[in-house]
Amino acid sequence: MTETANFKCLRCGHQYTRPYDPETGPQERMCPKCRSNSVRRLKKAKQETKAPGGGKK
Ligand SMILES: [Zn+2]
Repeated sequence: MTETANFKCLRCGHQYTRPYDPETGPQERMCPKCRSNSVRRLKKAKQETKAPGGGKK
């Protein structure tokens, strides 16, 4: 299952959302704006399509 995570660039402060697969981990840890790899993963994205409580796999 691929979930969405927020990333923030520590270099230019640009925030963006990318699909994040917990199994494979972050593949593209690069800021799309300045191409810096100094990005940090933030909390889960607020835009969730899943209904709360439905944690079935
Ligand atoms: Zn950046």
